[in-house]
Amino acid sequence: MDVKLIEDMADDIHVVRAARVSTEGNKSIDAKASERLILYLMRNKHASPFEHSMFTFYVHAPIFITREILRHRWASFNEESGRYRELDPDFYYPKDENRPLQQVGKTGDYQFVTAEHLREDVLNKFEEAYGTAWSAYELMLHDGVAKEVARMVLPLGIYSSLYVTMNARSLMNFLALRTANDAQWEIRYIASQMEYFFQDIMPLTHNAWVLNGRQAI
Ligand SMILES: Cc1cc2nc3c(=O)[nH]c(=O)nc-3n(C[C@H](O)[C@H](O)[C@H](O)COP(=O)(O)OP(=O)(O)OC[C@H]3O[C@@H](n4cnc5c(N)ncnc54)[C@H](O)[C@@H]3O)c2cc1C
Repeated sequence: MDVKLIEDMADDIHVVRAARVSTEGNKSIDAKASERLILYLMRNKHASPFEHSMFTFYVHAPIFITREILRHRWASFNEESGRYRELDPDFYYPKDENRPLQQVGKTGDYQFVTAEHLREDVLNKFEEAYGTAWSAYELMLHDGVAKEVARMVLPLGIYSSLYVTMNARSLMNFLALRTANDAQWEIRYIASQMEYFFQDIMPLTHNAWVLNGRQAI
């Protein structure tokens, strides 16, 4: 899985300028005062100044994760198409030793356990299922079946690619939900990479968001 920052039009200064236009026009900006202002905006849920900063990410993730990302309506998306291009045999495996394999407890209150002893068998089953599905896909394409039909046989673990554009407010909502402990391990991995770019590009806003409890505003 991978996240790249394609481009950004994002800066703490954009937040400050947008907030100050309502009171002071476009005067010069003092760093300490800016930090205080951003903290004030975050604490008081004065959210619209954060909407002027934009990020475009490229996300390479399995379909069971891209479909979770696509639930975030305050974003713009483009995804690669299995109707128009022949897909690659690029499948996700829960190989990472930090990716737990077992859940215990009730729905909504699951605890996850590494269960390393299961990993080899799990990976073998993935390999077998992916192999069977991929052979069927290739055979159908070979027989002249349309790509949009042949792809129906492929599993959710196949990789897809997305362009995702979000403003900083929407990104904070996304990160609040998708870095939380109850989010799926793989989307937490993707979200934490997005957060790295957010922190790097908007350090004052990121800091204010963390101090405010990493909440959506
Ligand atoms: C741990 C977890 C488990 C989940 N499980 C499921 C599940 O089992 N099934 C499922 O279908 N989804 C599930 N979801 C998806 C979830 O319900 C949201 O659709 C998704 O997280 C997008 O969040 P959002 O609506 O805040 O984001 P966005 O769509 O980006 O919206 C941002 C904000 O805009 C406002 N907003 C947007 N649209 C509306 C609207 N129509 N009406 C009012 N306000 C709006 C809200 O304030 C919202 O928070 C899950 C999400 C998480 C994090």
